[in-house]
Amino acid sequence: MADSQRLELFVLRDAQGPILYAPLGRRMARLNEPAARLALAYAQDPSVAEDLDADGRVVIDALRERGFYERVEPPHAREAFRPVQVTLFPTNNCNLRCRYCYAFGGEGGGNGEPLVRMDLACAQRAIDLIARNACERAAQGEDIHNFLVSIHGNGEPFCAYDLVREIVWYGQDVAEELDMPVVFNAATNGVLNDEQLDFVIANFGSINVSFDGLQRFQDANRPGPDGRGTFGAVDRTLRRLAESPVGLGIRTTVTAQMVDAMAEIVAFVAERYPGLEQLHLEPVWECGRCKTSDCAMPDAGVFTRRYLEARQVAEERGLRLVFSGARQDVLSDCFCKVSSGSFTVTPTGDVTACYEVSYASDPRSERYFFGRYDPQRADFVFDQAKLAALGRLNVRNMPFCDDCFCRWHCAGDCAAKVLDGIEPEQHGGSVRCEITRALTLDQIQRKLAWKAPGEGEAHDVP
Ligand code: SF4
Ligand code: SF4
Ligand code: SF4
Repeated sequence: MADSQRLELFVLRDAQGPILYAPLGRRMARLNEPAARLALAYAQDPSVAEDLDADGRVVIDALRERGFYERVEPPHAREAFRPVQVTLFPTNNCNLRCRYCYAFGGEGGGNGEPLVRMDLACAQRAIDLIARNACERAAQGEDIHNFLVSIHGNGEPFCAYDLVREIVWYGQDVAEELDMPVVFNAATNGVLNDEQLDFVIANFGSINVSFDGLQRFQDANRPGPDGRGTFGAVDRTLRRLAESPVGLGIRTTVTAQMVDAMAEIVAFVAERYPGLEQLHLEPVWECGRCKTSDCAMPDAGVFTRRYLEARQVAEERGLRLVFSGARQDVLSDCFCKVSSGSFTVTPTGDVTACYEVSYASDPRSERYFFGRYDPQRADFVFDQAKLAALGRLNVRNMPFCDDCFCRWHCAGDCAAKVLDGIEPEQHGGSVRCEITRALTLDQIQRKLAWKAPGEGEAHDVP
């Protein structure tokens, strides 16, 4: 059946009984067992209504009135490649040696590649390109009010601080010249000196700091090249950022050794960094340097239980908790921008669609590298055939996800993780599916609990 004709209706179950869930229409309701069976039977064959008794008709009428049987067009997140956002990796050098680093930061990707810095001209042309697109698209009536420069890395971007500074100054000049605002954000390990911190606070809209939450984990998992702990340095950064106007997020990578302390981590960071906007808790994925250390992915069931405990603690403290796969509020056919050609430039000037694939020696680069900076032409060249192929990395091409109620939320999960060496049609899920489904169900349960009947999308149906 074509996607546009699909009526997607699921019966989920928890301790209170069945929940009827229509993800595309964003409808949810608690029902009793016979009503849930009837709701599904009617979805499959509306002619069952002809033989219903009065009670059955009341159920179907109530569900119809509340939109459960409306056919909703599934989302199409892909768009023509005309980016107004670029992610720049200024360097693959790093001042830390995290034991689970996917990119072997500071060690050339683990493949003996050299430590390099991006050419300033490459960064400048990338900014020119997105700024120009932003102006043109805004002039054509699109709802675009700025261009966005993200500073990230397959290393620590602030190890190339003078380059980052030049990039920011250039972006600001272009913004002024074109009368189109620029927004900067960054991801960092947080080992920054005073000058760097002042610069971030003065110029960046938001910053995400990778930090393992408690001293014992941070020092063990995210040491410097000399093996020394980095908790003190990152804690200092976080305290300053938390007091500044910069939007602050923390990303904590959870290993099997840390999983039981998730609630403790939440309580600690919420209290110590009161300006913190969100804490992203992500189970480590066993790749990169993780394979050479004893960092292991936590058991999915244990991670889920501990996450739910931690969520309780976070809620009490007004802190938003995030796990990337569970996003009931999102409707999309792609997990990230990988399938519409996310414009990410590596230190060597290669353009990759995926943050985690940043070296030409990585076999996955065949799929994700779709362009490069050409210094002779002083411009970027893009491979349109590669871009078209990337467009296939979406959940419509993943039959494994067809019957999953998270299909249009999780959208098949992170391609770098679940499609390593395979085509989307071969996607067979991963241990993350269990976490994603459990935490998405939790989001639905909470919405049902928040809203009284008639107050929005969540209802109790007789
Ligand atoms: S700070 Fe980031 S790039 Fe550096 S080693 Fe740690 S995870 Fe890798
Ligand atoms: S595919 Fe995964 S790793 Fe790559 S950019 Fe998307 S979310 Fe990140
Ligand atoms: S089957 Fe797994 S990867 Fe696919 S949508 Fe569901 S949770 Fe996500």
